[in-house]
Amino acid sequence: MPIEKDHQYYDLVVIGGGPGGLTAAIYGGRARLKTLLIEKSLIGGLATYTNEIANFPGFPDGIGGLELMRQFEHQAKHFGVDFKISPVKSVNLEGTDKTVETFRTVYHAKAVVIATGGKPRLLGAPGEEHFLYDKGISFCATCDAASCKDKVVMVIGSGDAAVEEGLFLTKFASKVIMSVIHEEGHMDANAVAQQDAMREPKMEFRWNTVVDHFEGDERLSCVVLKDTRTGDLIPVDVDRCFYFIGYLPATELFRGQVTLDERGYIPTNTRMQTNLEGVFAAGDVRQTCLRQVATAVGDGAIAGFEAERYIAELEVYEKQLMQAEKPGLIYVYSPIDQRSRDFLPTVRELERDFDGKIKVSLVDTYKGECLAARLGAVESPSLVYTKEGKVVGKSRDLARDRIAEMLADLVEGRVPTPAE
Ligand SMILES: Cc1cc2nc3c(=O)[nH]c(=O)nc-3n(C[C@H](O)[C@H](O)[C@H](O)COP(=O)(O)OP(=O)(O)OC[C@H]3O[C@@H](n4cnc5c(N)ncnc54)[C@H](O)[C@@H]3O)c2cc1C
Repeated sequence: MPIEKDHQYYDLVVIGGGPGGLTAAIYGGRARLKTLLIEKSLIGGLATYTNEIANFPGFPDGIGGLELMRQFEHQAKHFGVDFKISPVKSVNLEGTDKTVETFRTVYHAKAVVIATGGKPRLLGAPGEEHFLYDKGISFCATCDAASCKDKVVMVIGSGDAAVEEGLFLTKFASKVIMSVIHEEGHMDANAVAQQDAMREPKMEFRWNTVVDHFEGDERLSCVVLKDTRTGDLIPVDVDRCFYFIGYLPATELFRGQVTLDERGYIPTNTRMQTNLEGVFAAGDVRQTCLRQVATAVGDGAIAGFEAERYIAELEVYEKQLMQAEKPGLIYVYSPIDQRSRDFLPTVRELERDFDGKIKVSLVDTYKGECLAARLGAVESPSLVYTKEGKVVGKSRDLARDRIAEMLADLVEGRVPTPAE
């Protein structure tokens, strides 16, 4: 028999407990939203995989990834965020009652932040698992280049990222050896990067090679390559090996609901909004040009802030603008537009004339851009008429007599009640 799932209700549910998700949750909690963060494994995400984060502002001597993430978690708890350790199994993110399901529970949310990050692509070669991350196989030159000063490093891959990051590594390493699967002189990178790489004296190429396996004791000390033409094994002593063979965003769960780009990342606007209203994305999972703790934090802050704004506007829309008690007149105006401002006293006069029989509301398009969009009245000044919690008319006509006529019709029931 299927298990009857428990239902719990939140304002904001954040999926993913890395730096992006934790920051969104901190902003949600601090804005007094009832906030839940769901993480499938370790709170802190990918940042916990590194011993030292040297480029996160505020820590001139560096800080351990785990230690930094503990501080984020502590801060989120301080602001009342609830945590759940369980993988999210499915979501339904359309409409205003969004659901996020784990094995036992259906969480309902008004807004959702997706911060599920991703994982670097692996080769699956023998020994790889033993040397991942701090033991010698890296995925991030920005993060780990400084520790490669005067060391010999190997780069796997020959696309834009591999060649450009390989060139960056030459500023630190004594030698950068690139293992390239193609024939001599052929790479997948853009022509300029290729030329720069070929001219760089610190760069060395091993053409027609793939990784056969990795060797070392505690740390990686040798990458054994295989010549794809002869099958010969070529041991290369290295201090570190960098993979630039792609990154896999954790977005399968959202496919079919949230728009993904061709590589599986979530495109957003600068407000971290996805294609679905009330659904935001932050951090590595987003289509972006840099994937770091600092950028995930910035995204998370915006996503948390925007989620709070969305929820507040949703409440104004449902409870105030779409009230069913009286016929409503909503004046959508811009405070920086003279015509809009000039008409405000007339709106107040009409409210007085109807002596409590109509409900007048104002929507400032500057502060309430999303509300205006929800009303379908993005151009200001505009008037929206409501009856029994439904929009019954929209107009940009500011003639006082015609507005008064429409309101009288609404009050006296001459405008039909909209069907459900
Ligand atoms: C070895 C290494 C070293 C690094 N060093 C640095 C550095 O020095 N400086 C720097 O700025 N950046 C560094 N980075 C990059 C940095 O860690 C990431 O950019 C950052 O962690 C991204 O944060 P995020 O919150 O977007 O995603 P992530 O940190 O990837 O967090 C996403 C979280 O979502 C969870 N999740 C995924 N799917 C689900 C699901 N279905 N249900 C519930 N939870 C889910 C995951 O378990 C994960 O915890 C490093 C990365 C690595 C791998």
